[in-house]
Amino acid sequence: MPIHSTAKKLVSKAAWYAYNMYRKGISYRSQLSKTAALLSASRADILAFQNEQLEKLLRHAYLTTPYYRELFKTESIHISQIPPLEKKDIREQLEHFCSEAVPREQRIRNATGGSTGTPLTFYQDRNYWNQRNLSVYCFDRWAGWDFGESQLIIWGALSDVEGNADWKHQLNNFWRNHYWLNGFHLTDATMQTAFQQMDRCYPRTILAYPSSLYQFATYLSENGLSPKWNLKGIITSAEMLHSHYRSLAETVFRTKVYNRYGGREVGLIAMECEAGHMHINCRDLYLEIDSPDPYTIPGDILITQLNNYAMPFIRYRIGDIGRLSDEVCPCGNQLPILAELLGRSTATFRTRTGTLIHAGYFTQQFYNVLGVDQFQLIQESLKHCILKVVINTQWTGATRRYMVQKIQEVLGTDVSVTVKFEKEIPLPTSGKREFTISNLPCG
Ligand SMILES: [Zn+2]
Repeated sequence: MPIHSTAKKLVSKAAWYAYNMYRKGISYRSQLSKTAALLSASRADILAFQNEQLEKLLRHAYLTTPYYRELFKTESIHISQIPPLEKKDIREQLEHFCSEAVPREQRIRNATGGSTGTPLTFYQDRNYWNQRNLSVYCFDRWAGWDFGESQLIIWGALSDVEGNADWKHQLNNFWRNHYWLNGFHLTDATMQTAFQQMDRCYPRTILAYPSSLYQFATYLSENGLSPKWNLKGIITSAEMLHSHYRSLAETVFRTKVYNRYGGREVGLIAMECEAGHMHINCRDLYLEIDSPDPYTIPGDILITQLNNYAMPFIRYRIGDIGRLSDEVCPCGNQLPILAELLGRSTATFRTRTGTLIHAGYFTQQFYNVLGVDQFQLIQESLKHCILKVVINTQWTGATRRYMVQKIQEVLGTDVSVTVKFEKEIPLPTSGKREFTISNLPCG
């Protein structure tokens, strides 16, 4: 590693220390080691802690929020008796979810990006953010991140970028030792510049949108550019990590990809370990699957966030589908495992018999089909799909038959598929590529 990179790491490490002291108080180091200890504790200890936090939260919600007071009717309610919380409930009566015990000026406003539907506004408090950051620090260490280590960030949520004045953004990147490649505007020129810059700066980890990482890896691979940065790991987050994204990135960057699953409403939900399992963050939340058997039948993920006292989220239907596992992970960590994360419920298809088919099936089948540059499959009804394709000269009638057949294999042979030829499939405003869209009503 060049000497100036080592010097920058030390400066950045000191800046992180000062920042955390300022934000979290003098005890931040002990908070961090307590967090790390709990996340690697025995299953019994983790669940006992979670249970205690859950009881405290339910009591707080009943005693201080109009919505839950009305809903629970009693202080001694069990979580299983509480109906799932829908996004529309929050939209319709936001103020009723806010705790009377947390002064208005201590609420921190936040919102989801609205990549799948209408944006959702909600509130969090300072403790939520402190706990959330402590967890992110600890989990990101699984992928090799540490304070002061340089990181390439390929990210692009407009709200994240626009919220910062340019100089502030630059300053933040400098002291955090972050290098930013805007995932919204990935062009050959920006990727070439980033590659050359990284050859000088030696990032130790990458944090990226899976689709942006894939685009960058594709560019490097197609142009015969081989990174010599000796990465410790890559963290992906915020959208589905398709298997072809992972395999290309792991080949090009010669390191492991660690998938991180989270949401702005509730923080970090699960993180992949070195053994490839997603461990659930039981310190900060209580996760359930809305399914008759969460270990065999995938269902909607319900999250109860344990630290946000400004606005409790209890059994919140976050919009993703998953399944649990009772496996013991060979990595040694005892946090429970989220076996399958099938992605957005709005990207997951349903057959007439109720079977769920997730986006990953279609991307696996179609990403390397000759003749197809881009595709998007839309489920309009249980009997009808629209397949949008951007084709090239290798497209033939056989390509069309193959794609329709693969769709009908899982959705049913009586499902009609309309193929539409497009010049381009534009990115939605979130910048996250959507391969599948379900227009079926939820439920
Ligand atoms: Zn593990």
